[in-house]
Amino acid sequence: MPTGQTDTIVGIDLGTTNSLVAYADERGPRVIYTTRDGARDNGMVPSVVAIDPAGGVIDVGRSARLHAIERPEITVYSIKRLMGRGFEDVQEEARRLPYRVVRRAGGQGRDIAAVQIGSRVYTPPEISAFILRELKARAEAYFERPISKAIITVPAYFDDTQRQATRDAGKIAGLDVIRIINEPTAAALAYGLDRHDDSTIAVYDLGGGTFDVSILRLSGGTFEVLSTHGDTHLGGDDFDWEIIRLVQQEVRRRYGEHLAFPPSTLQGLRNLAEAVKIRLSSQDQVDFEIDLGQGRNFGMQLTRGDLERMIEPYVQRTIDSCRQALCDAKLEPDAIDQVVLVGGSTRIPYVRRRLREVFGKEPYSALNPDEVVALGASVQASVMAGLKREVLLLDVVPLSLGIETLGGAVAKLILRNTRMPCQATEMFTTFLDGQTSIKLTVLQGERELAKDCRTLGEFELRGIPPMPAGMPKVQVTFLIDQNGILHVSAREQRSGKEASIQVIPAHGLTREEVRQMEKDAYAHARQDMKIHRLIDVRNQVVFDTAKAEQALRKAGPTLDPNLRKTITESMANLRRLAETSEDSEAIYQALQDFDRMTIPLAEHAVAQALKEAHQQETGERNS
Ligand code: AMP
Repeated sequence: MPTGQTDTIVGIDLGTTNSLVAYADERGPRVIYTTRDGARDNGMVPSVVAIDPAGGVIDVGRSARLHAIERPEITVYSIKRLMGRGFEDVQEEARRLPYRVVRRAGGQGRDIAAVQIGSRVYTPPEISAFILRELKARAEAYFERPISKAIITVPAYFDDTQRQATRDAGKIAGLDVIRIINEPTAAALAYGLDRHDDSTIAVYDLGGGTFDVSILRLSGGTFEVLSTHGDTHLGGDDFDWEIIRLVQQEVRRRYGEHLAFPPSTLQGLRNLAEAVKIRLSSQDQVDFEIDLGQGRNFGMQLTRGDLERMIEPYVQRTIDSCRQALCDAKLEPDAIDQVVLVGGSTRIPYVRRRLREVFGKEPYSALNPDEVVALGASVQASVMAGLKREVLLLDVVPLSLGIETLGGAVAKLILRNTRMPCQATEMFTTFLDGQTSIKLTVLQGERELAKDCRTLGEFELRGIPPMPAGMPKVQVTFLIDQNGILHVSAREQRSGKEASIQVIPAHGLTREEVRQMEKDAYAHARQDMKIHRLIDVRNQVVFDTAKAEQALRKAGPTLDPNLRKTITESMANLRRLAETSEDSEAIYQALQDFDRMTIPLAEHAVAQALKEAHQQETGERNS
């Protein structure tokens, strides 16, 4: 539980689909995952309000969304699309919404769009205020005291009226809105991109229902929006619909054109389509089944390639927008220093690939794309509450960084206090024959064992061609760029297979905790080294005995039976010793003896190989 600060200011992402509240202190920014009842969830509050036609709110957020199916006319979602808009301007928008959008007299002779439920008319700021109250309640449950100050984000393209409507929403919810900031600016702040003046950043935001891209320029410590472009009706929902259409087509092909899809089935299909799409971000193919009733089950398979073909036209439109935004800012793609990803749909590998092609660089993805805007808002909030920005932005790596190796030891690649930017590379290999994947765990800390370090992230290198243990060469690279973002990549050199992850090592620890971790490492240094050495020598025993076993198998009956017996016996002894003893020196000595003993075995293997080669040669000559 955070303490000390009296003037807490929270950061709020008031989104079209979901809203979040976040908070930053010297550990860095984080989303508040506490619900108003003190439970925990993923921090995302659906921007949905269910309103009783007789007056009053029934539900906000997740539970309100449940009403959307049976009672669409009282379930208000996407209210952000109406914020500060004139009634005439939202006609097209209103046609897509299942609730009643009505005209209400606004100031300065302008009619504004409002929502009618039952006999009551609600303005968009009033509806948004219900969502803000929910976020405020979450923050209060987390801090266990009243919270009244916030920074709220809005899209870069919001005009003054829309910004004012957002302020009004805050006021209605009992929040003092200290500042309204642009969503792309918040995203850049979350990544600490305010530390290098004269840089140009593209923020690509692809959510469920909206898309926009903004080009920002940082100069004199402030972000200026050079251009923005987008489509307020383009996003992950379109991808879901493509999958639904395909499934319907296939079902009808099998069961006949007459087959109807009632709303309940359609809702099930929507959930299924989204789940399939999400799984295809991490898997190459998904098999799924649909229950069509009357004992009919329809099975289908969708590959990542299928999905990519379906969403290509939509992604192309976002790419065209990027080019337009660049053109409006009078910039070439290579003028962009960083690309930042926002919105859940940017998790799709195809989207990232296309962006890499356009901008010629890897987009930033270290932060959760659903959270990045709220996190950035909280960074701005913490600075306004008096926290020094330098606390969050460091020039040196605060704690060593490495990966977990077999047996739970740590291979450190970058040592603490190294100046950023920096880079380190090390080779690793497999420990099992035919191993086709390697799990990589990125660790932070000074201790020698993985269990005593912080896990920053995990990823898997898959698709390694099956080879004997020790053969694959996996090059692991740690690169910390000038913004303090750690890029870890692993590449198997024969196959060229690659996998990578990004993380921000500076987030999540206070200076005091860093100092404590250093002290602990010092206090445990001797013991840690001992265990590390034990793990290393045990790994070597596993590796060498496996190799010897393989050689014994290969050697066949031509090997001296006495030699086979001696090696087999000492192998068993060595393995037993490695498992039971903690004396790394004794194991090491026994390993050396064993290795010496297997020299004749290696010689026998070489002689046998030569003999085979010779036989083959003479055989070829004779034929
Ligand atoms: P947002 O509006 O930013 O919350 O984004 C929500 C959209 O992101 C929805 O369409 C989700 O289906 C989509 N989404 C979330 N996670 C993934 C994922 N791993 N792969 C593909 N789409 C995703």
